[in-house]
Amino acid sequence: MGQKQRRPITATEVQTNSSAEGHSDHEHTPGDHLHEAPNSDFLSRMFGGGEVDHTTGEEVDAFVQADDFFYHYIQSSFDSQGNGAKGRISVLDGEAFEAEWITYAMARINPNTRARFTEAEARAFGVNAFEDNGRVVLHKNRGTPGTAVHESMHLFTHSSYARAMGFNVNEGTTELFTRLLCSRVGIRRERNYQDQFSAMNAVATGLDSGHNLLASAFFDGNYRALKDAMNTVPGRYDQWLALMQAGNYSAAKALF
Ligand SMILES: [Zn+2]
Repeated sequence: MGQKQRRPITATEVQTNSSAEGHSDHEHTPGDHLHEAPNSDFLSRMFGGGEVDHTTGEEVDAFVQADDFFYHYIQSSFDSQGNGAKGRISVLDGEAFEAEWITYAMARINPNTRARFTEAEARAFGVNAFEDNGRVVLHKNRGTPGTAVHESMHLFTHSSYARAMGFNVNEGTTELFTRLLCSRVGIRRERNYQDQFSAMNAVATGLDSGHNLLASAFFDGNYRALKDAMNTVPGRYDQWLALMQAGNYSAAKALF
């Protein structure tokens, strides 16, 4: 592959979807074990039992490969067969999905309780989809075409990012890049993780080359340039990260 050019990104490319239809942001209390919280796309909408026209892994890969910005950062996640998300997304019907989700959740920390999920909590938690160790599991009847894009971003992220940044920054950055790719390929995206997204969008648009700095951290695990750019205001990185981990999004946004 030849040298990829980074397409400059403008703030206007990341649209905040104004529809509030059906979505409630997941509420949680951040804690020490947030890095163990599940990478789940919390239930935003149910389509009355109808099947969702989920985006396939093959489609996600085609979107990424056709986009210089994304391919630059994600190409290293593609395997020798040229597959990124292809072959890693399963769409399951209700019972099979529920069984896999419960098994997955019970091995993880519930961000609401900071303890491992009980079976009852897992059943009540309501998710569209989750990403489990390199595999995305989608519910046949839940989510939107953007759900597979969001979960694919979890596939493509650097393994250190969630642990380094915590749940809110991880989901917010995942959603930032989800909405960016969705907007470029014409997929309508709901207001999933709206608070986390909004806070990360403030970073992306408030720093010079903010999208590139975040992409380098999120996809490649390179944090230095992001920290340096934030710390042009002394101490801002640590201050920002603490606010994000505490869920104080308005104060975090006010730093930019
Ligand atoms: Zn997620």
